[in-house]
Amino acid sequence: YCPTGAISIKTHMDEVWDALADKDTRVVAQIAPAVRVAVGDSFGLTKGRSVMGKIVNVLHRMGFDEVYDTAFSADLTVMEESEEFLERLEQNENLPLLTSCCPAWVKFVHDQYPEFVENISSCRSPQGMFSAVIKEYYRSPKNSGGKKTIVVSVMPCTAKKMEAIRPNSFTRGKQDTDIVITTTELIRMIRNSGIEFETLDPEACDMPFGFSSGGGMIFGVTGGVTEAVLRRMTEGHSKVELDAISECGVRGSEGIKEVTLPYNDTQLNICIVSGLANARTVMERVRNGEASYHLIEVMACRRGCIMGGGQPPRAGDRTKAAREKGLYNADNVTIIKKSDENPLIAPLYDGLLKGKVHQLLHNQES
Ligand code: SF4
Repeated sequence: YCPTGAISIKTHMDEVWDALADKDTRVVAQIAPAVRVAVGDSFGLTKGRSVMGKIVNVLHRMGFDEVYDTAFSADLTVMEESEEFLERLEQNENLPLLTSCCPAWVKFVHDQYPEFVENISSCRSPQGMFSAVIKEYYRSPKNSGGKKTIVVSVMPCTAKKMEAIRPNSFTRGKQDTDIVITTTELIRMIRNSGIEFETLDPEACDMPFGFSSGGGMIFGVTGGVTEAVLRRMTEGHSKVELDAISECGVRGSEGIKEVTLPYNDTQLNICIVSGLANARTVMERVRNGEASYHLIEVMACRRGCIMGGGQPPRAGDRTKAAREKGLYNADNVTIIKKSDENPLIAPLYDGLLKGKVHQLLHNQES
């Protein structure tokens, strides 16, 4: 919140409680990667350690019908964004590709660098993709059982509230993400529920969308989107190959990182940015012809979503490092690291997404 009280962000906890109280409504949650490493210490647990399993448990107890991990749709984002990137590379068109999963950055480009709007990836963010997929699944009367479906997304970010009501992210003219709450609002709701979060056992996400790769999980930290896309573009999946990607310069908390990698006959120039002041520095250099990249990943918050405006505030260096480590550790213990190897992805493309990829996974022309 603004320390002077001049700006306030609307909270949406009451809307969630109302939805949970309505027995004719199915309430489905999706949890962004960065949330899991920013909740535990509010309940006396180890700083930065992932408490995703406890979050799933507490949401079930509060009355959510299904709980999912947004890392699943981050896998979809990797699939779509890497395909879009390879197409643009082949046609040498609209490069550098600018990532689109951070709504504050997307708005910044529209406002400050309109000549680069065409360069923004057309992919919806993981939040947008997941909500569209869930709503599409429950359009079928067989799946819906006559109930209305409300999607609640739990995000590290107040800008995601704005993204959810952006008309070019709607499907068939309708909003897909019904309610967005921040990590801080989630913590307040857990406290208000009276449930002893710290004592809860971990639970797994629900099906049919309850599995994600490590690549989807690291979206919450700067460089994570690029690392996941590079994993997808690499044929192999051995530890040696994946370690080579993680050590090529994509990791680390610097605000501007540059990586050059061979890909077929091209030397790929990639820039990874966190913080809008750094984004301005990079975009000025690109605009003036002083720098040239094939891909620019930008997260508006320094270090990425782990330090988003909806996360618990007053995070010092130890907390920042612990949240980053927490996400990389969550990736470390995931058997499947590459988004394209998530076993739920191919059946989704062959089934629910058939003929609807553009409609459900990409933003419409604005
Ligand atoms: Fe939101 Fe910040 Fe993440 Fe952008 S970087 S999506 S503004 S939390």
